[in-house]
Amino acid sequence: MAALSLVTVIVDLPLVRPVAALMERRGWGLLQQASLPCWLELTLAVVLLDYTLYVWHVLTHRVPFLWRFHQVHHSDPTFTASTGVRFHPGELLLSLPVRLTAVAFVGASAEAVVLFEIVFTVANLVEHGDIDLPRPFERLMGRVFITPALHRRHHTKLGPDRDTNFGTILATWDRLFGTRADNDSATAIETGLPGLDQLTLPRVFVLPLQRMAA
Ligand SMILES: [Zn+2]
Repeated sequence: MAALSLVTVIVDLPLVRPVAALMERRGWGLLQQASLPCWLELTLAVVLLDYTLYVWHVLTHRVPFLWRFHQVHHSDPTFTASTGVRFHPGELLLSLPVRLTAVAFVGASAEAVVLFEIVFTVANLVEHGDIDLPRPFERLMGRVFITPALHRRHHTKLGPDRDTNFGTILATWDRLFGTRADNDSATAIETGLPGLDQLTLPRVFVLPLQRMAA
């Protein structure tokens, strides 16, 4: 299943970085309009790109056509770091124009894009990790960042909880837009999607053409 994420490496990186380099050369995009210190520009780029992927994630749940692809990610009955790379290649391809537009609009430099990709990848693996954190640390971390327990609630098998905790790096966006739902490591949650527990790899690929999980 990890092979699915190779699409990101093969298609995404060779396209996104040149766009970032072009914006930087031409001085186009939001962050290129001001002479910001390097650290501030990098931080703002990571924050803004994290926001755009929050919006994309919300759309994959709200737009039925996009959910057809995103349900592959949610159909994993287990909740481990490998869930973080279980995406249908179609979803990754559909997100490409969004990510290219975001990088261009934000005016993220090539360095900022690389930094964002590293931070986003680590956050994505951590939030899907089957990790139980000490409560005081988890509460503190959950104020700023998405914890594994918060994202586990997003992977709830039944009910409206799936439409909460869409963030990947920062917890800010869910708080700002009312999609935050608290959770902690002590709360057991059944993950996956009803009727899609035992998907073979061929079925994963054709799932978007076949059915939509409720
Ligand atoms: Zn989701």
